[in-house]
Amino acid sequence: MISLQKGELLGTTLPELIIPAERVAHVQVRNNLEHALLVLTKTGYTAVPVLDPKYQLHGLISTTQIMDSILGLERIEFERLEEMVVEDVMNKIIPRLNVNDSVENGLELLVDHPFVCIENDEHVFEGILTRRSILERLNTQIQKQNKS
Ligand code: AMP
Repeated sequence: MISLQKGELLGTTLPELIIPAERVAHVQVRNNLEHALLVLTKTGYTAVPVLDPKYQLHGLISTTQIMDSILGLERIEFERLEEMVVEDVMNKIIPRLNVNDSVENGLELLVDHPFVCIENDEHVFEGILTRRSILERLNTQIQKQNKS
């Protein structure tokens, strides 16, 4: 059975586990919804971070939110994709952590969210912590323990 002694399971820091900002697909607050839908469809991700030109984190946007925002009474109003911008429909209340927070704080948030955004003290986006990266780490630890 795996031991859960302090530091043994997740003895690492957030910067070691996150996907860095330059490798994270994102959109800008003033991009239109057509662009955001293109990014989401091309990458296959369910949601991506929304940043401003200074790389500060403002929220998350998902395909579901975009489709919901263009649903008319009788049809989907695709023409609105070009007119509306990301900041009109994005989710502003999102799980976020400071880069100096503990990995355990990240683990707690990942119970309810597939990924968590990480920012620095100036709210500049540093990257994301995903369920995959935590599970990979856990898997490595378990395999190491089984070998010893
Ligand atoms: P994963 O744990 O790798 O399946 O990722 C969970 C979620 O994190 C995905 O559905 C995306 O919304 C987000 N995600 C993962 N990797 C990236 C990336 N490189 N860029 C943007 N979003 C990502």
